[in-house]
Amino acid sequence: MKLTNRSKVVSNKKMSLKEKLYLPAIAQGMGITLKHAVRNLVKGVPSVQYPEEQRPRAIIWRGQHVLKRDDEGRERCTACGLCAVACPAEAITMTAAERTKDEKHLYREEKYAEIYEIDMLRCIFCGMCEEACPKQAIFLTDRLVDVEMIRQNFVYGKDKLVEKIEQRIDISERQKKTY
Ligand code: SF4
Ligand code: SF4
Repeated sequence: MKLTNRSKVVSNKKMSLKEKLYLPAIAQGMGITLKHAVRNLVKGVPSVQYPEEQRPRAIIWRGQHVLKRDDEGRERCTACGLCAVACPAEAITMTAAERTKDEKHLYREEKYAEIYEIDMLRCIFCGMCEEACPKQAIFLTDRLVDVEMIRQNFVYGKDKLVEKIEQRIDISERQKKTY
């Protein structure tokens, strides 16, 4: 569901012959890579063997989002759309649904997000969604978004965003707002 009209359709400009060949751009890119590689070798800059090796991140790192559950395990999100409206990158979309009386143990509010998606390729990890949420339902965490080879896999749905009941995500440091 589209919640704002901020997005613009861009038209691709016509490419020149040089651009169509790609080779000059590839050579230019390789040149930059080589320049950095040589400079780092000369300076003895250590390499981090990511993902096996990771540098420590701050406890308030703005990484992959989590959709929180309350103490009883119910999803906190009420699909109000405020996070999507606040998002400068238009990365969030959702579809709301009414909770039935048999679903009271699943969703805290009468309305919930049947579909909730964040496009991680659009997201700039600014934290505005977290700021906008009146239900303390969405938080950024110190987790990194997985590497993917297919663009569509970067659109995270509820299966990846909602925390597992038996595997809660600690967001207490972000809640302190000491940053
Ligand atoms: S962190 Fe910022 S860009 Fe990413 S989904 Fe939230 S509001 Fe949008
Ligand atoms: S995460 Fe928060 S702001 Fe976003 S739709 Fe759910 S309740 Fe509203």
